[in-house]
Amino acid sequence: MDFEMEEVNCPICEEAGGDPLYMEGSFQMVQCPSCQFIFLNPRPTMDSLIRFYQKYLPEEGASIESWEKMMKPVFHRAANLLNQYRRRGRLLDVGTGFGFFLVEMKKRGWEAAGIEISQKAMDYARDTLGLTLLPGPLEKVDFPDNDFDAVTGFYIIEHLPHPLAFLRECFRILKPGGLLLLRYPHTTPIKNVLHFFGIKNRLYDLPAHLSDFSPKVIQACLEGIGFGKCQHLIGGYTLPRDLGKRTASVLFGGLSEALFYLSGKTLLFPGVSKTILAFKGNIS
Ligand SMILES: [Zn+2]
Repeated sequence: MDFEMEEVNCPICEEAGGDPLYMEGSFQMVQCPSCQFIFLNPRPTMDSLIRFYQKYLPEEGASIESWEKMMKPVFHRAANLLNQYRRRGRLLDVGTGFGFFLVEMKKRGWEAAGIEISQKAMDYARDTLGLTLLPGPLEKVDFPDNDFDAVTGFYIIEHLPHPLAFLRECFRILKPGGLLLLRYPHTTPIKNVLHFFGIKNRLYDLPAHLSDFSPKVIQACLEGIGFGKCQHLIGGYTLPRDLGKRTASVLFGGLSEALFYLSGKTLLFPGVSKTILAFKGNIS
């Protein structure tokens, strides 16, 4: 697919440029000299991205089933985590894909809504799961202030051209005391190791991923917006169909989780997916 590309400033601090970090094919990740944020520059224009996402998710039934199996452990853990803080309420899942997380939360008694930009995923959710999803992006839906008890986003923030605007919107639509749960990849530490050994890879998944958040950067963004308390979590794994990827995912997911708990919940093993939970206002 051909992309129309554009040069951008740092999506976090607006500094121009960025120091070249890694190439994947013709795409380049750069690091902001001012705030150290890592992002794709130049990057596809918004129109190019919307076209790209019409073909991003799998289309046939068997591939969608594999997708569901891959994400199931992540959704199950996230649902358990939310239930530790709220037994039920109004939930919005942004970038919900086919809607499998909404099904899980509805089973648990939540009133769950989802936003998606892929028309095919919306059709599947409606025809197969009986769900009506709202067309994204989030900023265009115009929810009232203080509308949701929880907002979730699984592997979405790294796809967004304006991550700060997204986080601000999440803050606005959450009720006081409401919680935001984001799961995101953290790829740069693994890129650094593979680069050291001269191993070629496309782990950044460019140009789908527009940035690579670290726990430090994401927490600074959330606190800057006004979220009161952040909790980092690690561990858990997806179950990709490919045996090699599945083994790596279970192994590193399990190892990183063991180290996290052994270290008294302080060691965030670099390079594996992480979850952050942030509260609007402080909770006791
Ligand atoms: Zn910056």
